[in-house]
Amino acid sequence: MEATITLLPGDGIGPEIVAEAKKVLTAVAHRYHHTFHLPEYIYGGAAIDELGDPLPEETLAACLNSQGVLMGAVGHPKFDDPTLKVRPEQGLLRLRQALGVFANLRPVKVFDALADASPLKPERVQGVDILFVRELIGGIYFGTPQGRTVGEHGREGFNTMRYNEMEIRRVVQVAFDLARKRRGKVTSVDKANVLAVSRVWREVAHEVAAENPDVQYEDILVDAMAMYLINRPADFDVVVTGNLFGDILSDEASMITGSLGMLPSAALGEAGGVGLYEPIHGSAPDIAGQGIANPLATILSAAMLLRSSLNLDEEAGVVETAVSQVLAAGYRTRDIARPGENVVGCTEMGDLVANVIAGEKYG
Ligand code: NAD
Repeated sequence: MEATITLLPGDGIGPEIVAEAKKVLTAVAHRYHHTFHLPEYIYGGAAIDELGDPLPEETLAACLNSQGVLMGAVGHPKFDDPTLKVRPEQGLLRLRQALGVFANLRPVKVFDALADASPLKPERVQGVDILFVRELIGGIYFGTPQGRTVGEHGREGFNTMRYNEMEIRRVVQVAFDLARKRRGKVTSVDKANVLAVSRVWREVAHEVAAENPDVQYEDILVDAMAMYLINRPADFDVVVTGNLFGDILSDEASMITGSLGMLPSAALGEAGGVGLYEPIHGSAPDIAGQGIANPLATILSAAMLLRSSLNLDEEAGVVETAVSQVLAAGYRTRDIARPGENVVGCTEMGDLVANVIAGEKYG
């Protein structure tokens, strides 16, 4: 296969972790005789500094012309001032919109070797394997009217949570398609007891469920779901929800694993579109440039890209197995290491995974 994967290293630890994912993709290409073109483009805070725009035209064009985009992270404390007009995160939102990626996939899986990193009791964590499907380009983050005004009681801010049935149907259908390849269960999360928008969501979700009778279906209210993720997380397979609830619940669920540096994500649109892949963590400016970042979330994001954008299931599985083997052999980056464990740096961790893929044991 010949494919172009655009790399957007971004800010902070972004360049360090993307370099390791690039190494892993190169090892996959070598082992399976694929040709991967892996051009890198400027993006995020680095692009603001250089060109005044977090998503320069050339970067966007490269993304649109590739089969998949692998990002590091964006953000730097110098852009944290909320009154700034140009911010790194705007590049990310614009890129998602331009690629039409409406479904954000976030797997939350506990690696056996890291089970004791979870803040939950081991018996609760055993077998946790949830795939969150969060609607990504609609809902309250984009709904209008939104803004601020001054009313009778002083300053007011307002946003609108709005979903139409096309937006609901397409993301819920993605959840059913994914569940069919997993354990065959979809949980839709809403707030239908209070919100009109959630009542429409639930109605449409039931229609999609009726069209997919081979997959088990349930609705859960978002407040109850926040509790169930802590006291019975192993009961869930695919969880689908809107933008705001998905943002919060998937962050909550990620803590079940106890290791932010391990969690990948994908953002997908219509079949045949360009998928966007990135670790769920940010640019970690506190450890940038020290060579100690954990590259595994980015490497696992690259595995998702191989599977979802290039249909290379076997190659994706080889990357995931290599990560499990390196962990099982006791290697840890600092963020996931317990006292006495074998701590390696970012580059060494990438080398270890790439070497397993190349067939050399722990090189
Ligand atoms: P963060 O995820 O960057 O860091 C939180 C903590 O986790 C830090 O202590 C960091 O050192 C650690 N950490 C994160 N990833 C790690 C890794 N791979 N290996 C080892 N340790 C890791 O969150 P934050 O500090 O709240 O945000 C930092 C910047 O990142 C902000 O500017 C924020 O806006 C941005 N951000 C970007 C994205 C994105 O690009 N999608 C997502 C979240 C935050």
